Amino acid sequence: MKDDAIPPANACNGDDRRDPWLLTPGPLSTSMRTKRAMLHDWGSWDSDFKAVTADIRRRLLALIGDAGEYDCVPMQGSGTYCIEAALASFIPRDGKALVLMNGAYGQRAARTLDYLGRDYTVLDKGDYLPPMPEEVDRILSADPSISDVVLIHCETSSGILNPLEGIFSVVERHGRRLILDSMSAFGAIPIDVRKMPVEVIVSSANKCIEGVPGFGFILARKSALQRAEGNSHSLSLDVHDQWRVMNATGQWRFTPPTHTVVAFREALLQHEEEGGIAGRLARYSRNRDVLIAGMREMGFRTLLDDRWLSPIITTFFCPDDENFTFPGFYEALKRRGFIIYPGKLTEAESFRIGTIGQVNETVMRNLLAAIAETIREAGIRNCAPAPGIEPAGTGHSDNSKSSAK
Ligand SMILES: *Cc1c(COP(=O)(O)O)cnc(C)c1O
Repeated sequence: MKDDAIPPANACNGDDRRDPWLLTPGPLSTSMRTKRAMLHDWGSWDSDFKAVTADIRRRLLALIGDAGEYDCVPMQGSGTYCIEAALASFIPRDGKALVLMNGAYGQRAARTLDYLGRDYTVLDKGDYLPPMPEEVDRILSADPSISDVVLIHCETSSGILNPLEGIFSVVERHGRRLILDSMSAFGAIPIDVRKMPVEVIVSSANKCIEGVPGFGFILARKSALQRAEGNSHSLSLDVHDQWRVMNATGQWRFTPPTHTVVAFREALLQHEEEGGIAGRLARYSRNRDVLIAGMREMGFRTLLDDRWLSPIITTFFCPDDENFTFPGFYEALKRRGFIIYPGKLTEAESFRIGTIGQVNETVMRNLLAAIAETIREAGIRNCAPAPGIEPAGTGHSDNSKSSAK
């Protein structure tokens, strides 16, 4: 995407309203073209809409380099519905999961397993440290009853990019299956299933593909989809049944979010035009680099050590200055046209800034100018965190613990 492809203000279809830029983990700022795709009504049973569904399934499979081993099952609901559907459908009722946890989404996966009544164990790394392949190796060696490993690709609560390749190799070597929550990474971080045949990958419409919310999708080995029959406790979340019916009829089993689906197809076309995953990764990485350089120049500090930073979202510590409050900072930036995101850490005050969606480095520079203006106006002189707070990976001891449910 060219720099001028993104308007200076986030203009809306024809009306005067200017939406603020959504610098969040999704829903995101979307292109006009994607929004315009929603101005038509579609019959969910009609062949034109079935062709759209078939097209997005084909395009998503192409993004992981599938050579015919995988299939794509779109599923109604937000990302969490799709994760729940995947956990319920792919983990056998008598199976046992290992949840690799380092933030809110890992915790949510474990909570989902509680609801489902599936047996599991966790490796909990706290807020900002990645689960490491050696640790997974030790746990799998010690517990042969673990059938499935659940990994969050980019743990959006801190922005950390977890070491997928190393963990995949260990899981594969032990003959277990990897279920990957790639919600906030898919479409921007490459996954090639010819080199890394992950059993199940889950993502949703409103993250790095830059569609609007309303559904997600499960990319799974066909063998896994076959094996999933009868596992799910839920009719509407049964991935196997959705797959079977969709392949037989071309239709979604129950009312699909038709406008969202056609907008998603338009978003996929733009993803391709931008250079696919590589193009998107380049833009998001540039956004992040510009953002972090500018923030550090003002004195802000990132939670994560550089090597764990993702191009998706970055966590910054709140300034240790009596004039700083997050609500005040948030509102001042919103008035200037930028929506940021609160932090999700247990140990220190923080906030997050997303670098995904229809935003480019010009938007990032405008944001930095708005932040500079905001701190000046509020009389904030020190943007660094309280003394003693270290970026993760430099000073912290390893706080991992492995525990059974
Ligand atoms: C966004 C996200 C989800 C799903 O969240 P929803 O609010 O249900 O869309 C799940 N996992 C990760 C890592 C995410 O970033």
